[in-house]
Amino acid sequence: MANAFWCIVEDDRKGAPKKVMAEVIGEAARLSGGDVEAVWLTDTASDEGLGQLAGWGATKVWLLENAAFAPYRGEVWTPVVAELVAQHAPKAVFAPVTSKMREFAARLAARLGAGLSADSVGMTMDGDQLVATRPVYAGKLLAKMTWAKTPWIATLRPNVFKPADAQAGKTPQVEKPAVTIPDAAMKLVERREEASTGLPELTEAETVISGGRGMKGPENYVILENMAQVIGAAVGASRAAVDAGWRPHRFQIGQTGRTISPKLYLGFGVSGAIQHLAGMRTSKVIVAVNKDPDAPIFKIADYGIVGDLFEVVPALTEEFKKLLEK
Ligand SMILES: Cc1cc2nc3c(=O)[nH]c(=O)nc-3n(C[C@H](O)[C@H](O)[C@H](O)COP(=O)(O)OP(=O)(O)OC[C@H]3O[C@@H](n4cnc5c(N)ncnc54)[C@H](O)[C@@H]3O)c2cc1C
Repeated sequence: MANAFWCIVEDDRKGAPKKVMAEVIGEAARLSGGDVEAVWLTDTASDEGLGQLAGWGATKVWLLENAAFAPYRGEVWTPVVAELVAQHAPKAVFAPVTSKMREFAARLAARLGAGLSADSVGMTMDGDQLVATRPVYAGKLLAKMTWAKTPWIATLRPNVFKPADAQAGKTPQVEKPAVTIPDAAMKLVERREEASTGLPELTEAETVISGGRGMKGPENYVILENMAQVIGAAVGASRAAVDAGWRPHRFQIGQTGRTISPKLYLGFGVSGAIQHLAGMRTSKVIVAVNKDPDAPIFKIADYGIVGDLFEVVPALTEEFKKLLEK
């Protein structure tokens, strides 16, 4: 429907939307008064996944199910969604901040000549105009911005917006529009699934443990992983640790890595450089463990322990085990 708020679905590639979509759809519903539609480009959708989108508040799902949509390739997705936008004139197009959606939203905005609020952390309606808040200067300042014309395109930072309450037993109206799918410039050669660690994904986790240069080497991350298993956390890293080759880049938190906003962030041997803070400063509770009492991370930490992480981590893990009776 014209003037609806569209939410582009990030999924798990197994037929279900990721839980961050509850936040994106919830916020779109709050702003639009419930006029929310989901747009799902996928190679596999499931009835459960469609039900989930409806349960979160999507009144309609534009379902584009085709092998060409996975893996994501910008040159395939962008013209398809741009065509749909031109036909149906949504008022807004929202997506969660993920590696894929960061790129996609920018491409879509460029294609449509529309404005983009990337990495939004706040949204409000001022009369009939949307105003977004987003961090600038690596999170040092928050800027308010608005759009000269519709569609209002925005990516929303995970774990910031209130998720919609899931309502069971809902089925959306599903529309399968006929679209022209362009050829991909990139072809999929092989897909290898990463062996699951059993730990949550970094940007989805409610608790994140981060290890910096103070970890001293890749072999020591096992103590953080042990703690993560006990409290159900994801394990991330600073750029210094990533640059040293101790952790893959997808675990990097910060300006040139992932942006996280968990309920609890625990930093071990991380100094708190501004570029690291840019990726985690909106965490609800920040705990820092560092042997240097003057480490900048203590300036933003809610709780701090000045001490040697190699003593503190095992001691905390034991306490967590006792508290959680594991
Ligand atoms: C353009 C640009 C982009 C960048 N992007 C990012 C980014 O996305 N993410 C990011 O993280 N950084 C980024 N950086 C790098 C950033 O400036 C810092 O260099 C980096 O964050 C430092 O990582 P660190 O805190 O692990 O290391 P350090 O700054 O070296 O800090 C290590 C800390 O560990 C403590 N320590 C040492 N041993 C122990 C111990 N046994 N117990 C307890 N504490 C101990 C030390 O006291 C120290 O405070 C970027 C830099 C630039 C210029």
